[in-house]
Amino acid sequence: MTETTGRCFCGAIRFRFNHAPLATRACWCRDCQYLACGNASVNAFFRPAGLTLEGEPASYVSQADSGNTMRRRFCAKCGTHLFSEAEARPDVMVVRIGTLDRRDGLAPVSAIWTGSAPDWARLDPDLPSCAEQPTTPPVA
Ligand SMILES: [Zn+2]
Ligand SMILES: [Zn+2]
Repeated sequence: MTETTGRCFCGAIRFRFNHAPLATRACWCRDCQYLACGNASVNAFFRPAGLTLEGEPASYVSQADSGNTMRRRFCAKCGTHLFSEAEARPDVMVVRIGTLDRRDGLAPVSAIWTGSAPDWARLDPDLPSCAEQPTTPPVA
């Protein structure tokens, strides 16, 4: 297994997973547009059991458009968004790909919530996409 490392912008939060990303996906939901500064969020999925975390991220809990209760974790010092976890899926962690030390080779393989994207969004026509929340999870 390839380990995966990353950190927030200021370095106060550092993390390591003992495995490679299980899947990648872009999300255009309205919440992600706030968090990704206007664009889709680009995410990789990991198992929380494989996480080693240095530093204490702040967290914010809200209900997503999917109806899921999401806990989002971020650096309180520099504001970088790091993780998102659905209450209903405790075995999966969503990690913002921008925080990973190595981002090459991690192109999203699908896009979701494209129906919420603004009219100028550059949606990839070759990418499997879903206008809202897909019925199949990205990771079994
Ligand atoms: Zn930081
Ligand atoms: Zn989203």
